[in-house]
Amino acid sequence: MKKKRKTRLNRITRRQTNQQFLLLMATFAILFISLGMIIYNTFENTTYSGIDHGINNQVKMIKNPPTPKIEDEIHAPDRDIHPNNNKKNDPDNKAPFQSSILVYTTKGKLLNKASLGNRYTVLKHLPLKKSDLNKKQNININDMNFRIQVIKVSKNNSNPMYAGNYVTVVQNIDGQMTSLQNFERILIISFGAFWIISLILSYLLTRLTMRPIIKSWKQQSEFVNDAAHELRTPLAIIQGKMEYLLTKPNNTILDEAESISVSLDEVNRLNSLTNSLLELARADSATNKVDFKITKPEFFMSDPIKPFTEIIESQGKHFEIDVNKDVNLKVDRDKIKQLLIILLDNATKYTPKNGTIKISDRADGNKYYITVSDTGVGISDADKPKIFGRFYRVDKSRTKATGGHGLGLSIAQQIVHTHHGKIYIEDNKPQGSKFVVELPIKHKV
Ligand code: ADP
Repeated sequence: MKKKRKTRLNRITRRQTNQQFLLLMATFAILFISLGMIIYNTFENTTYSGIDHGINNQVKMIKNPPTPKIEDEIHAPDRDIHPNNNKKNDPDNKAPFQSSILVYTTKGKLLNKASLGNRYTVLKHLPLKKSDLNKKQNININDMNFRIQVIKVSKNNSNPMYAGNYVTVVQNIDGQMTSLQNFERILIISFGAFWIISLILSYLLTRLTMRPIIKSWKQQSEFVNDAAHELRTPLAIIQGKMEYLLTKPNNTILDEAESISVSLDEVNRLNSLTNSLLELARADSATNKVDFKITKPEFFMSDPIKPFTEIIESQGKHFEIDVNKDVNLKVDRDKIKQLLIILLDNATKYTPKNGTIKISDRADGNKYYITVSDTGVGISDADKPKIFGRFYRVDKSRTKATGGHGLGLSIAQQIVHTHHGKIYIEDNKPQGSKFVVELPIKHKV
């Protein structure tokens, strides 16, 4: 039954971990992709704005050509007819090395064929497209990349070669395209590598962060199961006794006193169990109100000690009291009283007749210690670390007789922790056990 529950829990936690991991994976992917796109776009925009700036300069120069000197005054179209003319005024010559300027008539006839030289073999594949007027666009001719802009030059242009014609400014952008592609490749590879690294890290992180959640979730689930189990036993006994009583309608209460008292005992057990559960649940959810006040030990010692003096003596055991320290502590008196009752109750329960139970205190530096020791059955080293666990009982059959649920020490530990103290077990030589509570002393009040 327990094994079945464990495998179900494992399945659920694995699913939970996987879900968390997938979520992280998607988050990182979205992050890297968007970051990559932003970086790539920025780089692309910078590259194009550099190219477009060059094209714009050329367009400006074509539309408003610098006034030519007298000796340069040559009719450009003539140059096309006579290719050996002065090259200084060649529009193509003025453009940067990577640029070319194509001059077309309104009918689309290329006018400066000769000045293009061997570039003509490539650029002849670029017909005039009037519909793309003034737009900058990328084109690919013979595996070469160009960015072009078609403009219409006014008839009043001072350069007769351009006047009234269409001009296409062509910029070779092979270099920029290659660096863009390289940049894209580097970006994809490095971001891919980082994504994988982040996945590995997030997987490890998920496991690390999920561990305490899974642990407390398992503890919670075990706690609920154990609590249900504890509740079931007294309820079954009460039900059995009630059903039995129903079969004896004519008997008197006196006749059935045993059944009634057993049922009452179980009701009492249920009562104390539900109170303990409530106490722990409140402490877990931090809704337990703690009323810290500066106080001295005498104000929380006497109340629990008094009733136990009578109980212990009545059971034929000895009670030694050695509490006299005068220190200031910041505690919730009622909680500390409850803690002492748990420890004294246990010491009494697990100590046989003629045994000795002792409560003492001492102060050492900044610490105040309360020790509850007994000459009882003692606690083995193996059980010492488990004893503060919820529902943990060393000997289930023995504690059944003592009426314990295994919750007392868990509550005791909770109380000590809320007071920023410690609780631990030592062996009481030569026989029994010793519970030591350590609380901080408040020096400045
Ligand atoms: P319980 O209500 O069963 O006493 P506790 O949480 O107070 O629950 O104690 C847990 C278990 O620790 C007990 O069942 C008992 O086996 C053991 N224990 C606690 N105090 C003592 C003690 N003074 N001597 C021996 N065993 C003890």
